[in-house]
Amino acid sequence: MATKPEVRRVFQLTQQVAKLFNEESFASLVFENIPDAFFIKDEQFRILYGNPALFDLYPTSLHDRIIGFTTAEEFDDPEQAAAFLENDRLALETGESAVVETLDFPDGKRRTLFTRKIRFENQDGKPHILGLARDITEIVKGQDALRRSEQRYALAVEGAAVGIWDLDVPQGTVVWSTRALEVIEHDYGPQGPSFDQFVELIHEEDRAFTLEEFDAHINNGTPFNVEYRLRRPDGTYEWIHARGQARWNDAGEATRVAGSIEDITSRKRAQLRLLQQNEQLNEFAHIASHDLKAPLRGMCSHIDMIKEDHGSALDPDVMERLDRMQSLTNRMEELIVDLLKLARVAEGERYAVPIDLNSVVDSAIALIPDWDHASVEVAQLPEVACEPVSVRELYRNLILNALKYNTRERPEVSVGVLEQEPDSPRRPPVFFVRDNGIGIAAVYHDSIFKIFRRLHGKDEYGGGTGAGLTFVKRIVERHGGHIWVESTPGQGSTFFFTLSP
Ligand code: ADP
Repeated sequence: MATKPEVRRVFQLTQQVAKLFNEESFASLVFENIPDAFFIKDEQFRILYGNPALFDLYPTSLHDRIIGFTTAEEFDDPEQAAAFLENDRLALETGESAVVETLDFPDGKRRTLFTRKIRFENQDGKPHILGLARDITEIVKGQDALRRSEQRYALAVEGAAVGIWDLDVPQGTVVWSTRALEVIEHDYGPQGPSFDQFVELIHEEDRAFTLEEFDAHINNGTPFNVEYRLRRPDGTYEWIHARGQARWNDAGEATRVAGSIEDITSRKRAQLRLLQQNEQLNEFAHIASHDLKAPLRGMCSHIDMIKEDHGSALDPDVMERLDRMQSLTNRMEELIVDLLKLARVAEGERYAVPIDLNSVVDSAIALIPDWDHASVEVAQLPEVACEPVSVRELYRNLILNALKYNTRERPEVSVGVLEQEPDSPRRPPVFFVRDNGIGIAAVYHDSIFKIFRRLHGKDEYGGGTGAGLTFVKRIVERHGGHIWVESTPGQGSTFFFTLSP
């Protein structure tokens, strides 16, 4: 059997090259152009020769203190100087030394050098040191920064409340963080489950759509942000919220997907409880409003009867009080009706359809009677996905208020949408209803959206219960949007709102 030949590098100098090496000009050409510091020291560690790269390590003011010196004379720290010369001693004794040393140079800079020193004898047999030093300060700094960044990343992954996963797509392997393995609960050994094993744990009813979302992200870049149920070892299911982000190569193939998994079972339970409580509350509002309305009507008709049967015998003061009682019961009925409406906004339609907003606004205006003296201008509005009936109610309330709270001879209302800024096309459109009415002082800009909050007497400005803007806010929030007002008292108000998050 043939043995593996030992590989040896043999430098054979051709005669021509050997001749070159013996020429002084050639030697200085080499030494003066190598980027590493190169030097020769004598037995007392004094520098006999240094190339320009060695001189570059020292400030010009010290250049006349290099040749003939050890350079350790310039060290402030005697320990550093001793350590520096120790390497020279080692090279002289053993023939060779190699060290990575961080030194404070006289120019105030701290440098890390990789230094090799080799002993050689000159023609007289006197030992000398040949040294080569490479400045590796930047490399070391880069490595340190990388190590620190990796440590930070590892700390963030392990400290995160959510579990982190990292899938190598071509290999099909997944790396799970400790928290991710805790969320998964099943014991698949320290590596955790493979991608396929994990998919197996997803509830049968959620698996197909979860994988569809995953594929859609990988193929089209649509956000991967899903909730699904994951089987626990005891056979019950926990709710998981998962997100992920892929990386693609130049060919557009996903090479890596990393993301998070979070156990949201308790949040889901709370949501469910809230939904049930809301339903109970609505049921209560229905029953309460029906049951409360009946005695109110009874009171009203009793007062009618008293007035009819005993009207002529009654003191005018008593009559006035009876009128007042009736108007109070009417007011109470109005409040109850509004409460019921509010409950309906909460439970009403839950579907959003793409619809031309102009047609919604037109039908809202058609519901507002007797405003011939006013001008209502409606700009071109976009098509939006919304619940048409509740959005019609929203516009009806805002336009009615714009006309009601207005003492000008010709109230002017403008319905429109703000122009999108070109650099923020992803923001939802901002709609507005603007008027030239009485305006609202800044202190009330929040409170007007609270239920039954009116800034005026109950019969002033056409009357009202103070529930309209509360409906409007609910409708906007059900669409995931928000609403705010800008106003100058005496000049007018603008209500702005969005209909999507
Ligand atoms: P209501 O109109 O029944 O009082 P709203 O909830 O619609 O109830 O409005 C609450 C209060 O906000 C109103 O009483 C009014 O003082 C003020 N307000 C609403 N819209 C305007 C408006 N466009 N201009 C001035 N004030 C307004």
